[in-house]
Amino acid sequence: MRQLTEKSVVLATHNSGKLQEFRELLAPFGRLVIPAREFGLDEPAETEASFAGNARIKAAHAARSTGVPSLADDSGIEVDALAGQPGIHTADWAETPGGRDFRIMMDRTWRMLEDAGAPEPWSARFRCSLCIAWPDGHDTSFEGSVAGRFVWPMRGGNGFGFDPIFQPDGHNLTFGEMDPGQKQGMSPRTAAFAKFVDTCLRDA
Ligand code: IMP
Repeated sequence: MRQLTEKSVVLATHNSGKLQEFRELLAPFGRLVIPAREFGLDEPAETEASFAGNARIKAAHAARSTGVPSLADDSGIEVDALAGQPGIHTADWAETPGGRDFRIMMDRTWRMLEDAGAPEPWSARFRCSLCIAWPDGHDTSFEGSVAGRFVWPMRGGNGFGFDPIFQPDGHNLTFGEMDPGQKQGMSPRTAAFAKFVDTCLRDA
C-alpha cells in the first residue's frame, strides 16, 4: 500500500469542525496541513451513492487541483427506522439559502420518526469514509462506523453538525455533551483515521 511520504497534505473540507478534528489527528505526524480554502478550491458535487464514493470525489478533486496529496471524508448518520436516512444526504438536509443549519436536519429527522410512529430507542449509525488521493490519480479509502441512537430533544452545545442528537452505545451523553477529546476518542473519523495511519503512515 502506498505510503504518504510527502510533507504536506491538503484537507479537502470547508467544514471548520472537521478541519479542527483532522488537525488534531494529524498533529503527531509532522505533516503540514493545508486547508482547501487556502487554494480557493470550490466544493465538487457529491454525485456518488456512497460515503466512500463521495469522499473519493472530494479528495481526488483537491489532489488534482493542487498537485498535493489530499485527504477528504464523507460522513453522516443512518437511522434504522428511516431505512438508513439521511445517510449520504445528511448535509443536504441541513442546506438553507443562507448556508447549512443542522437544527433543520435534526428536526426533520425527528419529525419523520414521529410521523412513522417508530418506537424508541431510535438505533442509528454514525459513519465516516476517509480517502487519501494523490495528484497522479492513486487513492485509498478507509471506513469508520459507530453504533448509537438518535435522541430527541437535542442535547449539548459542543462539537458540530448532528453531534447533539447522536448518543453512542454504552454512553449516556451525546457527542454534543462530551468534551471534544472524549468524542474524538470514539468518533468514526478517528477510527477511519487510525486505519489510514496503519496503512499509509506506518513509517512516520
Ligand atoms: P459531508 O461534509 O459531506 O461529510 O457531510 C456530512 C455532514 O455531516 C457535514 O456537513 C457535517 O457537518 C456533518 N458531520 C460530519 N462530521 C460530523 C461529526 O463529527 N459530528 C456531527 N456532524 C458531523
